[in-house]
Amino acid sequence: MKTIQHWINGSPAAGDGSESAPVFNPATGQEQARVVLGGSADVATAGAAASKAFETWSESSLTQRTQVMFAFRQLLVEHEEELGRIISAEHGKTVDDARGEITRGREVVEFACGLGDVLKGSFSDQVSRGVDVHNFRQPLGVVAGITPFNFPAMVPLWMHPIAIATGNTFILKPSERDPSAANFVAELYKRAGLPDGVFNVVHGGKDAVDAILTHPGIEAVSFVGSTPIAKYVHEQATTHGKRVQALGGAKNHAVVLPDADLEFAANHITAGAYGSAGERCMAVSVAVAVGDAADGLVEVLERKAREVKVGPGDAPGTDMGPLVTKAAQERVENAVGTAATQGATVVVDGRGLKVDGHEDGFFTGPSLLDHVTAEMDAYKEELFGPVLAIVRAESLDEAIELINANPYGNGTALFTASGEAARRFQRNVKVGMIGINVPVPVPMSYYSFGGWKDSLIGDNPIHGPEGIRFYTRPKVVTTRWPQPTHQHHAGFNFPTSN
Ligand code: NAD
Repeated sequence: MKTIQHWINGSPAAGDGSESAPVFNPATGQEQARVVLGGSADVATAGAAASKAFETWSESSLTQRTQVMFAFRQLLVEHEEELGRIISAEHGKTVDDARGEITRGREVVEFACGLGDVLKGSFSDQVSRGVDVHNFRQPLGVVAGITPFNFPAMVPLWMHPIAIATGNTFILKPSERDPSAANFVAELYKRAGLPDGVFNVVHGGKDAVDAILTHPGIEAVSFVGSTPIAKYVHEQATTHGKRVQALGGAKNHAVVLPDADLEFAANHITAGAYGSAGERCMAVSVAVAVGDAADGLVEVLERKAREVKVGPGDAPGTDMGPLVTKAAQERVENAVGTAATQGATVVVDGRGLKVDGHEDGFFTGPSLLDHVTAEMDAYKEELFGPVLAIVRAESLDEAIELINANPYGNGTALFTASGEAARRFQRNVKVGMIGINVPVPVPMSYYSFGGWKDSLIGDNPIHGPEGIRFYTRPKVVTTRWPQPTHQHHAGFNFPTSN
């Protein structure tokens, strides 16, 4: 059986090899590879390689770094299909969906290609007589990324292109459930001309994460995953003196007002809820039907949910693949059962779905739950599966109150024809990323990505301008070149300009 190794200093590395974990093909339910699980020794080896590489990479010119980013971007274009298939085979999502995540991740590389512009400092002439001030930003050193299973290419790509372009060296600890994409990206970087040791991959679970969080040579940690782990990572990383970005889980509401085009809204909500089997941090998991919109909306959503084609991610025509693990499949199906017990109406029941020829795959069909209330588990918990809960509300204000009372605040959407309602919604809702007639409002790479409340622990969103800020430290230089003809008086009072 294939063993997926670390990638350290430009080559595959077995590490101490004492532990490994199974990597499944979710569509067949079969173990297809083992991934090595690293610990403090492997993180130390990667840290030493990254630290050594930092000495030269941080001195490389902006031109050299930009050229590497352009070459890397081109390789991502050329290998999109291949990487998409690697992702699909371990995650379960469709190949087209995987290509979509590669495209969105590549956009961060494109942002990083504009490094020369975004890293420009500013200059103030003559702030005092004969004195100028300028500023510039410098890399932190060795930085690390800890990423979730659901976007094995895109989420790391939110981090490493910006970290590397700004002169840092990087250690990625991807999810142990779909580890191969990280190694493939490492090979592309090498082919793009990135020096060895600048991008490293250490596979593993909690041991590897803890080794990163406590490593004295790692300056910053970027984390994306579930909220409990985000809180843990934030606390540990800050305790150990590191800068940290920590993005957590979500419960995203799509509000539908009576003036919305119901067919349009239902189409988009269905795709947003069941795309990638609901395993997206920006998935629509709650539809809030306002007033008269409810019955009509449920009718169309039911029709659309029944039309979703479930199958293996590499089969043409598949809309939705399996869940990532058997445990996830069981968790989601149990949640549908609990919802029914707690009084929700199961309009479409995805439990027990079998796909011909893939009977052991981790499939579950789309489920649609109506008459869900804020007290039910199906509303409170992040199910991270193809389950859409419908909550009925009397007014837009009631919908906003519901969203604001939810502990998560990642994404939300409003479907309406009213500009006034859209404006009220976007101003009053306590959520970081908002779509108006857009169900999955993932910001472009040149904006930053991040939720509010329990969807982002601390205050550092990811990529875009916030990414540049996160991976660099500012310096401000005050300069005087004394002229022999000028009188200079060095006073004992605190310096002021004149
Ligand atoms: P997860 O929290 O289980 O794992 C994330 C990372 O943490 C993985 O690398 C994993 O190995 C590591 N990890 C797991 N348990 C750990 C522990 N006890 N101690 C230390 N490290 C640990 O998340 P997941 O199941 O891989 O991904 C799904 C979650 O990620 C969902 O909650 C989803 O909403 C969230 N997510 C959020 C965003 C966002 O932008 N806010 C994006 C993608 C995914």
